[in-house]
Amino acid sequence: MTALSSPQLDALETAIRDVVAPQALETDTQGRFPRAAVTALGQAGLLGLVSASSVGGAGGGLPQARAVVERLAQDCSSTAMVVCMHYCATAVLEQFGPEAVRREIAAGRHLSTLAFSEAESRSHFWAPASTAKVQGDQVVLDARKSWVTSAAEADSYVWSSQPLKAEGASSLWLVSSKAAGLSVASAFDGLGLRGNASSPITAQGVAVQARDLLGEDGKGYPRRARCQCDGTHFRCAV
Ligand SMILES: Cc1cc2nc3c(=O)[nH]c(=O)nc-3n(C[C@H](O)[C@H](O)[C@H](O)COP(=O)(O)OP(=O)(O)OC[C@H]3O[C@@H](n4cnc5c(N)ncnc54)[C@H](O)[C@@H]3O)c2cc1C
Repeated sequence: MTALSSPQLDALETAIRDVVAPQALETDTQGRFPRAAVTALGQAGLLGLVSASSVGGAGGGLPQARAVVERLAQDCSSTAMVVCMHYCATAVLEQFGPEAVRREIAAGRHLSTLAFSEAESRSHFWAPASTAKVQGDQVVLDARKSWVTSAAEADSYVWSSQPLKAEGASSLWLVSSKAAGLSVASAFDGLGLRGNASSPITAQGVAVQARDLLGEDGKGYPRRARCQCDGTHFRCAV
């Protein structure tokens, strides 16, 4: 029994048969990001699975997201991880993100991910040590993120920091992966999931705009983001 509609299931199976599965071995042995798989899933409407129908998405929720990630993991666990983190980030962006980005995600042209975990906070990722500071008419982010799936491969990061001014544990930002001052500190060299590019990212003086704040300052966690982590797993309400 699957939560997916018959056309969605057909689209998923076609993308897996034609693109995801044939490249899975190379993705793993060479630790290569599964770009072709991501493109195929975008074209199949599956990157927009949890985007609202009002922005062109499929309007799915957690059962649909789970069905896709579970099925992908049977053939390519790296692709499954990348898509899982994309759905987590999309859950936040659907609530607080700009409509243009939401439309790009729904159209399958924009990959996102969460940049929560940090070298300093580790599993306690709801309490980031990284900072956001007003500098002139901009906000400047500094961080040592410890794991970001699809690092430098995603189009954007849903990024946590300490609040700007408000009380609270964290604030969330939409950060372009092309922003100046971001660097991938090292390649992913874990056991398994070798193509998922879950690498550390350093931010040094990364400038964003006040409008890139997702939701309210200081309310990044837990209710607003609707993401939870039990130390090794993220759960996002989508
Ligand atoms: C493949 C992969 C992809 C990932 N992708 C992302 C991503 O896209 N975005 C992102 O933000 N993060 C991501 N993560 C990070 C993941 O959420 C972290 O691994 C997690 O937050 C745990 O942090 P840590 O590895 O530093 O473990 P640690 O904090 O070192 O924890 C190790 C163990 O110690 C326990 N522990 C820690 N602190 C305490 C304490 N005070 N008291 C008792 N026990 C404690 C933990 O429960 C755990 O069992 C990814 C991780 C992996 C493996």
